Amino acid sequence: MSQGNVVTPPNVDLTNCDREPIHIPGLIQPHGLLLVLKEPELEIIQISNNSFEFLKLHPQQLLNKPLEGLLGSEQIDDLQKCLSQDFEGVNPLKLSVKTSQQDLAVDGIIHRSDGVLILELELTQLKQEVDFFSFYHLVRGPTAKMQNASSLQELSQIIVKEVRKLTGFDRVMLYRFNSEGAGAVIAEDKLESPTPYLGLHYPASDIPKQANQLYTLNRLRLIPHVNYQPVELVPLNNPVTHRPLDLSFSVLRSVSPIHIEYLNNMGVAASMSISLVKDKKLWGLIACHHQSAKYLTYEVRTACEFLGQVMSLELAMKEDNEDLDYRMKLKSIQSQFVEVIPQTENFIDGLVESESNLLDLVSAQGVALSSVDQLVIRGKTPSEAEIQDLLVWLQTKIQQNVFSTDSLAKIYPAAEQFKDVASGLLALSISKTHKNYILWFRPEVIQTVNWGGNPHKPVEVAPDGSLHLSPRKSFELWQETVRLKSLPWKQCEIDAALELKSAIIGIVLRKADELARINIELERSNSELDAFAYIASHDLKEPLRGIHNYSSFLIEDYAGILNEEGNSKLQTLVRLTQRMEDLIDSLLHFSRLGRVELSMQRTNLNELIRNVIDVLNISLKETAVDINIPRPLPVIRCDRVQVNEVFSNLLSNAIKYNDKANKRIEIGWLDAGAASEEPNLVDKPEQAVVFYVRDNGIGIREKHLDTIFRIFKRLHAPHKYGGGTGAGLTIAKKIVERHNGKIWVESTYGEGSTFYLTLPG
Ligand code: ADP
Repeated sequence: MSQGNVVTPPNVDLTNCDREPIHIPGLIQPHGLLLVLKEPELEIIQISNNSFEFLKLHPQQLLNKPLEGLLGSEQIDDLQKCLSQDFEGVNPLKLSVKTSQQDLAVDGIIHRSDGVLILELELTQLKQEVDFFSFYHLVRGPTAKMQNASSLQELSQIIVKEVRKLTGFDRVMLYRFNSEGAGAVIAEDKLESPTPYLGLHYPASDIPKQANQLYTLNRLRLIPHVNYQPVELVPLNNPVTHRPLDLSFSVLRSVSPIHIEYLNNMGVAASMSISLVKDKKLWGLIACHHQSAKYLTYEVRTACEFLGQVMSLELAMKEDNEDLDYRMKLKSIQSQFVEVIPQTENFIDGLVESESNLLDLVSAQGVALSSVDQLVIRGKTPSEAEIQDLLVWLQTKIQQNVFSTDSLAKIYPAAEQFKDVASGLLALSISKTHKNYILWFRPEVIQTVNWGGNPHKPVEVAPDGSLHLSPRKSFELWQETVRLKSLPWKQCEIDAALELKSAIIGIVLRKADELARINIELERSNSELDAFAYIASHDLKEPLRGIHNYSSFLIEDYAGILNEEGNSKLQTLVRLTQRMEDLIDSLLHFSRLGRVELSMQRTNLNELIRNVIDVLNISLKETAVDINIPRPLPVIRCDRVQVNEVFSNLLSNAIKYNDKANKRIEIGWLDAGAASEEPNLVDKPEQAVVFYVRDNGIGIREKHLDTIFRIFKRLHAPHKYGGGTGAGLTIAKKIVERHNGKIWVESTYGEGSTFYLTLPG
């Protein structure tokens, strides 16, 4: 046993195995004869150079001759009939080949490739004629057992046992590949003496890319004698295409020398592999090894291939069922979120409401939820600053909706710092524009992997000085301690994350629809209200005027007749009608605001405020007021008349509601920095400017800070503080909001108030 970490040296060409053109070796294994035939006349145009060993005829004696010379017209007629059929159904053809000495019984295996017909002949083994019923017997028992298996593990164990029983190989193993192509032996059946390989891992480089492809296409591969003498084709190239013949589907195709070396190093003299394919991808291999040469008839091979296909079907079903309970649990967590999220203001609140569910959804130990302006973390996570950095990196990485890794530090070295909490990352992108991400974290789990030999292939220097990889020499147990890795994310967990995204998007979209509907409704009722207020106030004015006039006439004409009490009541009547008229005028003015278009123009606020002060000047003279503008105000785009009214209202209030001997008012605007800290301004548009009007007046109690913006709301008796209708601030609010702004007040009762408002920049 060896221990340690071998790192592949830099600048090594790791892909020389990946580039080897193993489907066109121009060679075959010698246990059969390969004939290339031109259709339709079935003329032999290429042949393997072992025809003499088989037929006592040299290639030159056969080339460019009709196949009929070997098979006779009767067999050729039968063969012709097969050519339009599916070859899987006709192989092997039971043929008899005439040679100068005897008639040879052979199995003929045909397929088409490269525009030619390829016929491969293998000697029929004596007493091994297998008809349909014997085939049925070969596979019936094993198939039934496999179908009864309750788990994938049991299924794997059954197939290696049955294949070994059927074939007599010394060792039959089942390799299962992970998503990166590395394999592990998950089941094994063998003679007693050789060391077990069960549980050993094999690196992805053991099966180069193009070999993987061939295994997927060609489900069974037999190498009866690993140290065979390869036989070349005559001529070397396919005479039709003038290129090496494509032998992808040939049963006799010669094996890559690298693979032969690999098998030799393993001490294997004969080998067979059966591919297990799921969703068109190589899921695993049943690998059979023998310590001496070993040949199997085509029928037994077909039976093994058939079992491989049954296994492929069964494993897909078993694998899907394997996580059934777990998947059900994830589904139920999911549905709890679907119930909770719509009841919360934003989906992040809904998700964090149940921290344990959010973690359990993908079996994570920490989670971070990010959006443009917040980062919520729960459980065991990296620090906020580390997560922010990770998010920046992730945005370039996450092309699809989801990104997952069980070894974050490998691709994001900074993660080594927080390996204890986040060696595994599952990131879900909910909305790129809002920078909504959910990141789930898993801690490092240190594992010991048992490799079948040192997986880091030794490097060999070729005669030309280039570096090449060759298969490892030893397959002894080689232990590696794997760090910086978390438990892997299961597909069903990744699916659960993706489903959560669809659920959130569905809910958010539904909410947006609802909001849009409410907005339309609100707009409609607002304009109806404006119209109503306008008509009502307009129509009320006339009778009111009548009441006022008649009361005035009464006072003028009947003052002498009425007693003092009568006169006083009439005076009150006149005063009340006057007040009512003021109220109606305010209402009329307010409702008009909603009906006129804004006339936006560049406005110098310094001039505008000067104008406001000029108009207010009358009252300023009477009261000592000190108005201070600490720095020049900006030029903004607004409706000049309406904004004038806003400042006029605020300034006159600042003077009115002030009982100090020295009345002080300050008019100013905030810097961007100060504005960004203002809690009222979370969703302030970028260019908006925040203005303020500050006074040292009577102040407003906390409980009234909102109500003063309601129409006709006054905090004092009608005649106090110079009177008023209580509509000024309502009108100011309406104007500011029509400019997409906000208005609010901060105040200390008895000391003064500051009114803030935002206007477009
Ligand atoms: P009005 O001034 O006509 O009463 P407003 O809508 O302008 O109506 O103001 C509503 C109420 O808010 C006022 O009655 C007053 O009580 C309060 N208020 C407004 N401005 C100030 C201020 N600068 N300081 C203290 N209270 C104020």
